[in-house]
Amino acid sequence: MEVNIKKLEKESLFLDGKTKKLYQTNNPDYLFMEYKNDLVVPDGKKIIKVRGKSQINNEVSSHVFQFLDSYHIPNHYVGRLDEKSCVVKRVDIIPINVVIRNIAAGSFAKNYKLDEGQVLPAPVIEFYFKNDKLGNPMINEYHLYAFGYSNQDEVRTIQRLAAKVNAVLRNFFERRNFKLVDFKLEFGRSRNNIYLADEISLDTVRLWEVTSDRKIEKEIAHGKETEVGKLYAEIKQKLIHPKNKEEKNRT
Ligand code: UDP
Repeated sequence: MEVNIKKLEKESLFLDGKTKKLYQTNNPDYLFMEYKNDLVVPDGKKIIKVRGKSQINNEVSSHVFQFLDSYHIPNHYVGRLDEKSCVVKRVDIIPINVVIRNIAAGSFAKNYKLDEGQVLPAPVIEFYFKNDKLGNPMINEYHLYAFGYSNQDEVRTIQRLAAKVNAVLRNFFERRNFKLVDFKLEFGRSRNNIYLADEISLDTVRLWEVTSDRKIEKEIAHGKETEVGKLYAEIKQKLIHPKNKEEKNRT
């Protein structure tokens, strides 16, 4: 590990987001990332409080980032700090949501008149400008160059990493009986290097159970707060402590 986490001290609030708070530390290269219980309900755009979500997302995201690290995906994750927080490398976030789609669902199926559930012959990688006031419009790489947010080399790296993360995670979820329908990634820059950043959790992936046809994001969208808490706990268990023996040996 590059830094001794125990020597890091929490300093002032750096950023207060919808689902996480970032704090500066006594080392300018590292931040504390603290998860909140707030959930932005897919479909509805409202925010509900889900008890236990902060711990669950911290655990799931830490697990997934460590898994990706073992596949040499450069990422900002450093280590777990406590139940609700972890330590991350400080990066300048490139203001795009990178969405990767393997199966047509949601607005994508609607916009392109595809049947929900249709497997895409090749994954689709989309960029959305991270700006709530503008409604996060879809953009392409030329917007990033024109607005001065990135350059061609960085965009190539982001596309390559997004495709690799997709290949690794599809497999990870498939072995746990889930189809990775689509998901969102964020990337950041530090000293001219690109790192996978933010979180990968039930807030950012759309999963369908393979053997039951359960659509987890629909259960989240329609569930009451206590039901959503239980659902998060159930899926976390299936992802981190898979029953299947073969899986236990592998991860
Ligand atoms: N997503 C996310 N945060 C965002 C936007 C999207 O985590 O701000 C994820 C979302 O969970 C889903 C995927 O990216 O897995 C596609 O999201 P989108 O909002 O485009 O869904 P759709 O409109 O297709 O239902």
